[in-house]
Amino acid sequence: MTTLAPYAAREDRSRGRRYAEAPPQGRGEFQRDRDRIVHSSAFRRLEYKTQVFVSHEGDLYRNRLTHSLEVAQIVRGLARGLHLNEDLSEAIALAHDLGHTPFGHAGQDALDDCMKAYGGFEHNAQSLRVVDELEDKYAEFTGLNLSFETREGILKHCSQARAATLGDVGERFLLKRQPSLEAQLTNIADQIAYNNHDVDDGLRAGILSIEQLLDVPLFARFHAEVTARYSALTPRQLRHETIRRMINALVIDLHGETARRLAMAGLADIDAVRAHPETLVSFSAAMQRDNRDLKRFLNEQLYQHASVYRVMHKARRIVRELFEALFGDGRLLPPAFQAAARNAEGDAGRARGVADYIAGMTDRFAADEHARLYDLRHLR
Ligand code: MG
Repeated sequence: MTTLAPYAAREDRSRGRRYAEAPPQGRGEFQRDRDRIVHSSAFRRLEYKTQVFVSHEGDLYRNRLTHSLEVAQIVRGLARGLHLNEDLSEAIALAHDLGHTPFGHAGQDALDDCMKAYGGFEHNAQSLRVVDELEDKYAEFTGLNLSFETREGILKHCSQARAATLGDVGERFLLKRQPSLEAQLTNIADQIAYNNHDVDDGLRAGILSIEQLLDVPLFARFHAEVTARYSALTPRQLRHETIRRMINALVIDLHGETARRLAMAGLADIDAVRAHPETLVSFSAAMQRDNRDLKRFLNEQLYQHASVYRVMHKARRIVRELFEALFGDGRLLPPAFQAAARNAEGDAGRARGVADYIAGMTDRFAADEHARLYDLRHLR
Protein backbone atom coordinates (compact mmCIF):
# COMPACT_ATOMS: atom_id res chain seq x y z
CA MET A 1 0.00 0.00 0.00
CA THR A 2 1.18 3.53 -0.69
CA THR A 3 1.72 5.96 2.18
CA LEU A 4 -1.51 7.10 3.73
CA ALA A 5 -2.44 10.77 3.79
CA PRO A 6 -2.77 12.22 7.31
CA TYR A 7 -6.57 12.41 6.93
CA ALA A 8 -6.92 8.76 5.82
CA ALA A 9 -8.44 6.12 8.12
CA ARG A 10 -5.68 4.29 9.97
CA GLU A 11 -5.88 0.93 11.69
CA ASP A 12 -3.71 2.07 14.59
CA ARG A 13 -6.22 4.85 15.30
CA SER A 14 -9.33 2.74 14.75
CA ARG A 15 -12.24 3.19 17.12
CA GLY A 16 -12.14 -0.59 17.40
CA ARG A 17 -14.56 -3.50 17.33
CA ARG A 18 -17.67 -4.01 19.45
CA TYR A 19 -16.07 -7.08 21.06
CA ALA A 20 -12.33 -6.76 21.71
CA GLU A 21 -10.20 -9.21 19.73
CA ALA A 22 -6.48 -9.96 19.45
CA PRO A 23 -4.91 -8.17 16.46
CA PRO A 24 -4.87 -10.19 13.23
CA GLN A 25 -1.71 -11.90 12.03
CA GLY A 26 -0.44 -11.59 8.48
CA ARG A 27 -3.14 -9.10 7.48
CA GLY A 28 -4.49 -5.79 8.66
CA GLU A 29 -7.68 -5.07 10.61
CA PHE A 30 -9.58 -3.79 7.56
CA GLN A 31 -8.38 -6.77 5.50
CA ARG A 32 -9.81 -8.97 8.22
CA ASP A 33 -13.12 -7.11 7.88
CA ARG A 34 -13.03 -7.63 4.11
CA ASP A 35 -12.33 -11.35 4.55
CA ARG A 36 -15.20 -11.81 7.01
CA ILE A 37 -17.55 -10.06 4.60
CA VAL A 38 -16.51 -12.29 1.69
CA HIS A 39 -17.02 -15.41 3.85
CA SER A 40 -20.51 -14.35 4.99
CA SER A 41 -23.63 -16.04 3.64
CA ALA A 42 -25.24 -12.64 3.01
CA PHE A 43 -22.40 -11.95 0.55
CA ARG A 44 -23.05 -15.13 -1.42
CA ARG A 45 -26.76 -14.30 -1.59
CA LEU A 46 -25.95 -11.09 -3.47
CA GLU A 47 -25.42 -13.19 -6.59
CA TYR A 48 -29.12 -13.95 -6.78
CA LYS A 49 -30.47 -10.53 -5.91
CA THR A 50 -31.66 -8.07 -8.51
CA GLN A 51 -29.88 -4.90 -9.40
CA VAL A 52 -32.37 -3.62 -12.01
CA PHE A 53 -33.15 -6.74 -13.99
CA VAL A 54 -34.55 -9.76 -12.22
CA SER A 55 -31.79 -12.31 -11.93
CA HIS A 56 -33.45 -14.96 -14.08
CA GLU A 57 -33.83 -12.65 -17.09
CA GLY A 58 -30.35 -13.34 -18.36
CA ASP A 59 -26.98 -14.50 -17.07
CA LEU A 60 -25.08 -11.44 -18.25
CA TYR A 61 -26.96 -8.74 -16.40
CA ARG A 62 -25.51 -7.25 -13.26
CA ASN A 63 -26.68 -8.61 -9.97
CA ARG A 64 -25.83 -7.22 -6.52
CA LEU A 65 -22.69 -9.32 -6.33
CA THR A 66 -21.16 -8.15 -9.61
CA HIS A 67 -22.32 -4.61 -8.75
CA SER A 68 -20.52 -4.77 -5.39
CA LEU A 69 -17.35 -6.05 -7.11
CA GLU A 70 -17.48 -3.16 -9.58
CA VAL A 71 -17.87 -0.67 -6.74
CA ALA A 72 -14.90 -2.25 -4.96
CA GLN A 73 -12.78 -2.08 -8.10
CA ILE A 74 -13.61 1.58 -8.74
CA VAL A 75 -13.12 2.68 -5.14
CA ARG A 76 -9.82 0.86 -4.69
CA GLY A 77 -8.29 2.75 -7.60
CA LEU A 78 -9.61 6.05 -6.27
CA ALA A 79 -8.48 5.36 -2.70
CA ARG A 80 -5.00 4.42 -3.82
CA GLY A 81 -4.71 7.52 -5.97
CA LEU A 82 -5.84 9.80 -3.14
CA HIS A 83 -3.62 8.07 -0.54
CA LEU A 84 -6.68 6.93 1.37
CA ASN A 85 -7.14 3.52 2.95
CA GLU A 86 -7.71 1.07 0.11
CA ASP A 87 -8.45 -1.91 2.37
CA LEU A 88 -11.15 -0.02 4.27
CA SER A 89 -12.74 1.25 1.04
CA GLU A 90 -12.82 -2.26 -0.35
CA ALA A 91 -14.43 -3.68 2.80
CA ILE A 92 -17.14 -0.99 2.76
CA ALA A 93 -17.81 -1.53 -0.96
CA LEU A 94 -18.20 -5.29 -0.62
CA ALA A 95 -20.56 -4.91 2.35
CA HIS A 96 -22.60 -1.90 1.28
CA ASP A 97 -25.53 -3.85 -0.21
CA LEU A 98 -25.60 -6.87 2.14
CA GLY A 99 -28.95 -5.78 3.57
CA HIS A 100 -30.69 -5.38 0.25
CA THR A 101 -34.02 -7.17 -0.14
CA PRO A 102 -34.86 -9.36 -3.13
CA PHE A 103 -36.11 -7.46 -6.22
CA GLY A 104 -34.06 -4.30 -5.78
CA HIS A 105 -35.75 -1.06 -4.81
CA ALA A 106 -39.23 -2.44 -5.45
CA GLY A 107 -38.62 -5.08 -2.78
CA GLN A 108 -37.18 -2.52 -0.36
CA ASP A 109 -40.14 -0.16 -0.82
CA ALA A 110 -42.67 -2.95 -0.36
CA LEU A 111 -40.98 -4.18 2.82
CA ASP A 112 -40.76 -0.62 4.14
CA ASP A 113 -44.53 -0.27 3.60
CA CYS A 114 -45.20 -3.53 5.46
CA MET A 115 -42.99 -2.33 8.33
CA LYS A 116 -44.49 1.19 8.58
CA ALA A 117 -46.12 0.53 11.95
CA TYR A 118 -43.02 -1.24 13.29
CA GLY A 119 -40.20 1.21 12.63
CA GLY A 120 -39.93 0.86 8.83
CA PHE A 121 -37.28 -0.88 6.76
CA GLU A 122 -34.15 0.79 5.35
CA HIS A 123 -31.74 -1.32 3.33
CA ASN A 124 -28.70 0.61 4.54
CA ALA A 125 -29.58 0.08 8.17
CA GLN A 126 -30.28 -3.55 7.29
CA SER A 127 -26.74 -3.95 5.85
CA LEU A 128 -25.44 -2.87 9.24
CA ARG A 129 -27.86 -5.24 10.99
CA VAL A 130 -26.56 -8.11 8.85
CA VAL A 131 -22.93 -7.53 9.89
CA ASP A 132 -23.78 -6.64 13.52
CA GLU A 133 -26.51 -9.16 14.35
CA LEU A 134 -27.77 -11.51 11.68
CA GLU A 135 -24.65 -13.35 10.51
CA ASP A 136 -24.33 -15.92 13.21
CA LYS A 137 -21.45 -18.35 13.01
CA TYR A 138 -18.66 -17.05 15.23
CA ALA A 139 -18.18 -18.57 18.67
CA GLU A 140 -17.28 -15.37 20.50
CA PHE A 141 -19.67 -12.76 19.12
CA THR A 142 -22.82 -12.26 17.11
CA GLY A 143 -22.44 -10.76 13.65
CA LEU A 144 -19.04 -10.30 12.04
CA ASN A 145 -17.66 -7.96 14.72
CA LEU A 146 -16.30 -5.51 12.13
CA SER A 147 -14.27 -2.39 12.87
CA PHE A 148 -16.10 0.84 13.67
CA GLU A 149 -14.78 2.41 10.44
CA THR A 150 -16.24 -0.33 8.23
CA ARG A 151 -19.59 -0.16 10.05
CA GLU A 152 -19.58 3.65 9.80
CA GLY A 153 -19.09 3.34 6.02
CA ILE A 154 -21.84 0.75 5.60
CA LEU A 155 -24.40 3.05 7.24
CA LYS A 156 -24.57 5.59 4.41
CA HIS A 157 -27.80 7.19 5.43
CA CYS A 158 -30.43 6.59 8.02
CA SER A 159 -33.35 8.36 9.64
CA GLN A 160 -32.80 10.38 12.83
CA ALA A 161 -35.14 8.07 14.71
CA ARG A 162 -33.17 4.99 13.75
CA ALA A 163 -29.81 6.74 14.28
CA ALA A 164 -30.75 7.29 17.91
CA THR A 165 -30.98 3.50 18.39
CA LEU A 166 -27.65 2.65 16.73
CA GLY A 167 -25.11 3.84 19.29
CA ASP A 168 -21.65 4.89 18.07
CA VAL A 169 -22.34 4.58 14.31
CA GLY A 170 -25.64 6.44 14.61
CA GLU A 171 -24.04 9.43 16.34
CA ARG A 172 -22.93 11.28 13.24
CA PHE A 173 -26.49 11.56 11.90
CA LEU A 174 -27.58 13.20 15.14
CA LEU A 175 -24.53 15.47 15.36
CA LYS A 176 -24.52 16.20 11.59
CA ARG A 177 -20.95 15.04 11.19
CA GLN A 178 -19.26 13.38 8.20
CA PRO A 179 -18.04 9.81 7.80
CA SER A 180 -14.45 8.96 6.80
CA LEU A 181 -13.24 9.93 3.33
CA GLU A 182 -13.14 6.21 2.49
CA ALA A 183 -16.88 6.01 3.24
CA GLN A 184 -17.59 9.16 1.21
CA LEU A 185 -15.57 7.77 -1.68
CA THR A 186 -17.38 4.42 -1.67
CA ASN A 187 -20.71 6.21 -1.75
CA ILE A 188 -19.80 8.01 -5.00
CA ALA A 189 -18.08 4.93 -6.47
CA ASP A 190 -21.42 3.14 -5.96
CA GLN A 191 -23.13 5.77 -8.14
CA ILE A 192 -20.43 5.63 -10.83
CA ALA A 193 -20.80 1.85 -10.97
CA TYR A 194 -24.59 1.67 -11.19
CA ASN A 195 -25.14 4.61 -13.53
CA ASN A 196 -22.75 3.08 -16.04
CA HIS A 197 -23.66 -0.57 -15.73
CA ASP A 198 -27.34 0.32 -15.92
CA VAL A 199 -26.71 2.07 -19.25
CA ASP A 200 -24.88 -1.06 -20.41
CA ASP A 201 -27.61 -3.46 -19.20
CA GLY A 202 -30.37 -1.19 -20.52
CA LEU A 203 -28.80 -1.19 -23.99
CA ARG A 204 -28.19 -4.94 -23.84
CA ALA A 205 -31.83 -5.52 -22.91
CA GLY A 206 -33.00 -3.34 -25.80
CA ILE A 207 -34.88 -1.05 -23.39
CA LEU A 208 -32.54 1.87 -24.09
CA SER A 209 -31.30 2.89 -27.52
CA ILE A 210 -28.15 4.74 -28.59
CA GLU A 211 -30.37 7.41 -30.18
CA GLN A 212 -32.06 8.12 -26.83
CA LEU A 213 -28.72 8.19 -25.04
CA LEU A 214 -27.41 10.86 -27.40
CA ASP A 215 -29.59 13.25 -25.36
CA VAL A 216 -27.32 12.56 -22.37
CA PRO A 217 -24.31 14.92 -22.71
CA LEU A 218 -21.80 12.59 -21.04
CA PHE A 219 -22.77 9.69 -23.29
CA ALA A 220 -22.99 11.84 -26.43
CA ARG A 221 -19.51 13.27 -25.86
CA PHE A 222 -17.75 9.92 -25.68
CA HIS A 223 -19.95 8.30 -28.31
CA ALA A 224 -18.81 11.05 -30.71
CA GLU A 225 -15.18 10.51 -29.72
CA VAL A 226 -15.40 6.78 -30.33
CA THR A 227 -17.23 6.99 -33.64
CA ALA A 228 -14.78 9.64 -34.88
CA ARG A 229 -11.85 7.42 -34.03
CA TYR A 230 -13.15 4.02 -35.21
CA SER A 231 -15.28 3.58 -38.29
CA ALA A 232 -16.35 -0.07 -38.18
CA LEU A 233 -17.24 -1.04 -34.62
CA THR A 234 -19.86 -3.63 -33.75
CA PRO A 235 -22.69 -2.34 -31.52
CA ARG A 236 -21.16 -4.21 -28.59
CA GLN A 237 -17.75 -2.62 -29.15
CA LEU A 238 -19.28 0.82 -29.54
CA ARG A 239 -21.25 0.40 -26.33
CA HIS A 240 -18.26 -0.76 -24.35
CA GLU A 241 -15.81 1.79 -25.76
CA THR A 242 -18.25 4.58 -24.88
CA ILE A 243 -19.10 3.38 -21.39
CA ARG A 244 -15.51 2.69 -20.38
CA ARG A 245 -14.64 6.27 -21.32
CA MET A 246 -17.57 7.55 -19.25
CA ILE A 247 -16.42 5.61 -16.19
CA ASN A 248 -12.87 6.81 -16.68
CA ALA A 249 -13.95 10.45 -17.04
CA LEU A 250 -16.08 10.28 -13.89
CA VAL A 251 -13.25 8.67 -11.91
CA ILE A 252 -10.62 11.15 -13.11
CA ASP A 253 -12.89 14.11 -12.41
CA LEU A 254 -13.76 12.82 -8.95
CA HIS A 255 -10.11 12.28 -8.15
CA GLY A 256 -9.11 15.78 -9.34
CA GLU A 257 -11.88 17.69 -7.62
CA THR A 258 -11.54 15.75 -4.37
CA ALA A 259 -7.75 16.24 -4.31
CA ARG A 260 -8.31 19.97 -4.85
CA ARG A 261 -10.85 20.22 -2.03
CA LEU A 262 -8.64 18.20 0.32
CA ALA A 263 -5.68 20.48 -0.39
CA MET A 264 -7.81 23.53 0.37
CA ALA A 265 -9.30 22.10 3.54
CA GLY A 266 -5.88 21.27 5.04
CA LEU A 267 -7.17 18.55 7.35
CA ALA A 268 -4.87 17.26 10.08
CA ASP A 269 -6.48 13.87 10.58
CA ILE A 270 -9.66 11.80 10.33
CA ASP A 271 -11.24 13.70 13.22
CA ALA A 272 -11.00 16.85 11.11
CA VAL A 273 -12.69 14.97 8.23
CA ARG A 274 -15.54 13.98 10.52
CA ALA A 275 -15.92 17.50 11.93
CA HIS A 276 -15.73 19.23 8.52
CA PRO A 277 -19.01 21.03 7.72
CA GLU A 278 -19.49 19.15 4.44
CA THR A 279 -18.39 16.06 2.59
CA LEU A 280 -15.16 16.54 0.65
CA VAL A 281 -15.41 13.81 -1.95
CA SER A 282 -17.05 15.47 -4.94
CA PHE A 283 -17.24 15.81 -8.70
CA SER A 284 -16.48 19.19 -10.27
CA ALA A 285 -19.50 21.44 -10.89
CA ALA A 286 -19.57 20.55 -14.61
CA MET A 287 -19.39 16.81 -13.93
CA GLN A 288 -22.07 17.11 -11.24
CA ARG A 289 -24.36 18.44 -13.96
CA ASP A 290 -23.44 15.63 -16.37
CA ASN A 291 -23.92 13.05 -13.65
CA ARG A 292 -27.32 14.49 -12.70
CA ASP A 293 -28.44 14.39 -16.34
CA LEU A 294 -27.38 10.76 -16.66
CA LYS A 295 -29.23 9.87 -13.46
CA ARG A 296 -32.38 11.67 -14.55
CA PHE A 297 -32.28 9.89 -17.91
CA LEU A 298 -32.01 6.48 -16.23
CA ASN A 299 -34.86 7.32 -13.86
CA GLU A 300 -37.17 8.32 -16.65
CA GLN A 301 -36.18 5.88 -19.38
CA LEU A 302 -35.00 2.75 -17.61
CA TYR A 303 -36.26 2.41 -14.02
CA GLN A 304 -39.79 3.52 -15.00
CA HIS A 305 -39.85 1.64 -18.30
CA ALA A 306 -43.01 -0.44 -18.79
CA SER A 307 -41.22 -3.79 -18.98
CA VAL A 308 -39.14 -3.10 -15.84
CA TYR A 309 -42.19 -1.68 -14.10
CA ARG A 310 -44.36 -4.74 -14.78
CA VAL A 311 -41.84 -7.08 -13.17
CA MET A 312 -41.37 -4.75 -10.22
CA HIS A 313 -45.12 -4.52 -9.75
CA LYS A 314 -45.22 -8.30 -9.28
CA ALA A 315 -42.13 -8.18 -7.06
CA ARG A 316 -43.83 -5.73 -4.69
CA ARG A 317 -46.81 -8.04 -4.46
CA ILE A 318 -44.60 -11.05 -3.70
CA VAL A 319 -42.88 -9.21 -0.84
CA ARG A 320 -46.15 -7.80 0.54
CA GLU A 321 -47.92 -11.16 0.49
CA LEU A 322 -44.95 -12.97 1.98
CA PHE A 323 -45.01 -10.51 4.86
CA GLU A 324 -48.78 -10.88 5.32
CA ALA A 325 -48.57 -14.66 5.47
CA LEU A 326 -45.46 -14.94 7.66
CA PHE A 327 -46.39 -12.16 10.08
CA GLY A 328 -50.02 -13.31 10.16
CA ASP A 329 -49.06 -16.86 11.16
CA GLY A 330 -45.60 -17.36 12.64
CA ARG A 331 -45.90 -21.14 12.23
CA LEU A 332 -45.18 -20.63 8.53
CA LEU A 333 -41.65 -19.41 9.36
CA PRO A 334 -38.66 -21.81 9.37
CA PRO A 335 -37.92 -23.21 12.87
CA ALA A 336 -34.98 -20.88 13.68
CA PHE A 337 -37.09 -17.82 12.86
CA GLN A 338 -40.05 -19.23 14.81
CA ALA A 339 -37.84 -19.47 17.89
CA ALA A 340 -36.64 -15.89 17.36
CA ALA A 341 -40.25 -14.75 16.90
CA ARG A 342 -41.26 -16.38 20.22
CA ASN A 343 -38.47 -14.52 22.01
CA ALA A 344 -39.15 -11.23 20.25
CA GLU A 345 -40.73 -8.45 22.22
CA GLY A 346 -44.21 -7.56 21.00
CA ASP A 347 -45.49 -7.13 17.48
CA ALA A 348 -42.61 -4.85 16.49
CA GLY A 349 -40.07 -7.51 17.46
CA ARG A 350 -41.96 -10.23 15.58
CA ALA A 351 -42.36 -8.00 12.53
CA ARG A 352 -38.62 -7.26 12.57
CA GLY A 353 -37.86 -10.98 12.57
CA VAL A 354 -40.12 -11.52 9.56
CA ALA A 355 -38.50 -8.55 7.77
CA ASP A 356 -35.05 -10.02 8.49
CA TYR A 357 -36.14 -13.32 6.99
CA ILE A 358 -37.67 -11.75 3.86
CA ALA A 359 -34.77 -9.32 3.36
CA GLY A 360 -32.35 -12.25 3.38
CA MET A 361 -34.18 -14.03 0.55
CA THR A 362 -32.81 -14.16 -2.98
CA ASP A 363 -35.17 -13.22 -5.83
CA ARG A 364 -35.69 -16.85 -6.74
CA PHE A 365 -36.27 -18.05 -3.19
CA ALA A 366 -38.80 -15.27 -2.57
CA ALA A 367 -40.75 -16.16 -5.73
CA ASP A 368 -40.65 -19.91 -4.90
CA GLU A 369 -41.65 -19.34 -1.28
CA HIS A 370 -44.54 -17.15 -2.41
CA ALA A 371 -45.69 -19.95 -4.72
CA ARG A 372 -45.37 -22.51 -1.92
CA LEU A 373 -47.53 -20.36 0.36
CA TYR A 374 -50.15 -19.17 -2.10
CA ASP A 375 -50.28 -21.47 -5.12
CA LEU A 376 -52.77 -24.19 -4.22
CA ARG A 377 -51.25 -26.57 -6.73
CA HIS A 378 -48.15 -26.66 -4.50
CA LEU A 379 -48.98 -28.83 -1.52
CA ARG A 380 -45.62 -28.74 0.23
MG1 MG B 1 -24.91 -0.21 -4.42
